[in-house]
Amino acid sequence: MKPGVVTGAEYTELVAACKEGKYAMPAVNISGTNTINAVMEAAAQAKSDVIIQLSNGGAGFYAGKGIPSAHDGMVMGAVSAAQHVHYLAEHYGICVVLHTDHANRKLLPWIDSLIEQNAKFHAANGKSLFSSHMLDLSEELPEANVATCKEYLQKLDKLNISLEIELGVTGGEEDGVGSDDLSDSSKLYTTPEDVWYAYQELQGLGHFSVAAAFGNVHGVYKPGNVTLQPKILKACQDHVEAQLGDGVSNPCDFVFHGGSGSDEADIKEAIGYGVFKMNIDTDTQFAFSNGVHTNMQKNPTAYENQIDPETGKPNKSTYDPRKVLRAGEETMVSRLQEAFEVLGSKGNSIAGA
Ligand SMILES: [Zn+2]
Repeated sequence: MKPGVVTGAEYTELVAACKEGKYAMPAVNISGTNTINAVMEAAAQAKSDVIIQLSNGGAGFYAGKGIPSAHDGMVMGAVSAAQHVHYLAEHYGICVVLHTDHANRKLLPWIDSLIEQNAKFHAANGKSLFSSHMLDLSEELPEANVATCKEYLQKLDKLNISLEIELGVTGGEEDGVGSDDLSDSSKLYTTPEDVWYAYQELQGLGHFSVAAAFGNVHGVYKPGNVTLQPKILKACQDHVEAQLGDGVSNPCDFVFHGGSGSDEADIKEAIGYGVFKMNIDTDTQFAFSNGVHTNMQKNPTAYENQIDPETGKPNKSTYDPRKVLRAGEETMVSRLQEAFEVLGSKGNSIAGA
């Protein structure tokens, strides 16, 4: 496969390669060029393909906090970030998937505008800006959730874009979506019946993936709040497989949300049940900020004085923002090496293969 952004049939080929090779790609939420470049640098180092993901908040931040309209900001930021990746990805020699993160019903106008932008880009370049978008209507009843997903999958498929849907609620809060209240844990587990229902409704309309809830939580919490139960994914796959009866194992393409802070054994077990994408945000946010912090702690006076009060020497080479930001990139790159290792994607890039 040619390195660079993959969409349409190339994307589904990549998903199939992950499932066949029993590995998953990290989907890393980014917020600017530093974090995007760190993800591509890390993937190139690990010889792994990777997913670059934008939440609505991340997209708005990418466009700049000075943009007066929040809606325009999250549309323009997503388009701008995607164009940055389209232009650079092939030079890193790996395949990159471009994805958006949770969009609940009030964020549908964001997705509508992105569909328009995808169509424009497709007309000019023969491929879409994004490989896949996500709708998260998991707070609604399955019928309403899936009916809207069906409508969107039909629109997206015309542009060779995949759709990720969410069934069952991922716990925790991320970018204003979800809640920190983990007291009602029954909603945190997807049922095989719901997966089969969605499968029947969406089958044949285009490529889709399913974020299924198996006790996963956004963010890193104290242990003991909820229990991860990857077996739920197996139960879902077994049910769909039995209904289809065509002997194809793991028919659903599953997505693991809230991967940060999870046990390696649980991650590996989930991958065995058809997870090809694991979202990671909290851990890489911490890595980036921690790298910046550690770097600044080494010489705190340099950030308060342009000329060192004791030596009289200029501090320019220390407070140069590139030094500070690069420190964040480096710790993010190294944290991502752990992710590629655990997910088994290291050395498995299909670029050039
Ligand atoms: Zn999520």
